[in-house]
Amino acid sequence: MKNIIIAIDGYSSSGKSSMAKWLAARIGYRYIDSGAMYRAVTLYAMRNGMIHPDGSVDDQAIVKSLPLIKIDFKVDRQSDSQATMLNGEIVESEIRDMPVSNNVSAVAAIPAVRHALVDMQQAFGNEKGIVMDGRDIGTTVFPNAEMKVFVNASPQTRAQRRLLELSAKGVATTFEEVLANVVHRDHIDTTRAESPLRRAEDAIELDNSNMSIEEQSDWLLKLFNKISSCNN
Ligand code: C5P
Repeated sequence: MKNIIIAIDGYSSSGKSSMAKWLAARIGYRYIDSGAMYRAVTLYAMRNGMIHPDGSVDDQAIVKSLPLIKIDFKVDRQSDSQATMLNGEIVESEIRDMPVSNNVSAVAAIPAVRHALVDMQQAFGNEKGIVMDGRDIGTTVFPNAEMKVFVNASPQTRAQRRLLELSAKGVATTFEEVLANVVHRDHIDTTRAESPLRRAEDAIELDNSNMSIEEQSDWLLKLFNKISSCNN
């Protein structure tokens, strides 16, 4: 069967990463988490004093550092999981914490950061057979992707899901703090000048607010089977 490119975009904590990861494992494709790449650049900037305590970002310093930032994914075939690497160091846990979440959308709004990461993301797609999730995959990274999904759920549902994930990791936070972060990131992501978050015209929309994981997975696999049979 011919391999295709699958783009899964959507709002923060809409469940798109879980969907993308699940589908990739199910159909034997490679999964790429584009959000992790923006998070890794943000962590680098925070560690190197390029984000000030008031949240303002030194755009120029970050852009100058881009050639020094190497991002990769370490794949563990046994557990079928992968970890984000920043200059050879595994940073998977740190990039998910609240300090990075609070700063990532400002870093992701810098045009030169987006251009550098989009180039890397497109290189991952050279061989097809990938599932990539993010905000602009169907619009900018792979406008010709054969399968595009746009995922949404209410901000409250998304914040509740994120809170559960963070609590499971032992991160001390509150529903209000997580909801504020989700709403804040939605605002920056949808209003930035450079490839803002929006549904690609040919993306299939899924509101999963009231869907179980099984229903969601079933929906996704059916869509994949339909699209891939049309592409063979
Ligand atoms: O997907 P995740 O929530 O981990 O992404 C973190 C942030 O990275 C988003 O809030 C968004 O600001 C940015 N992002 C982006 N474009 C992508 C993926 C993520 O701007 N393709």
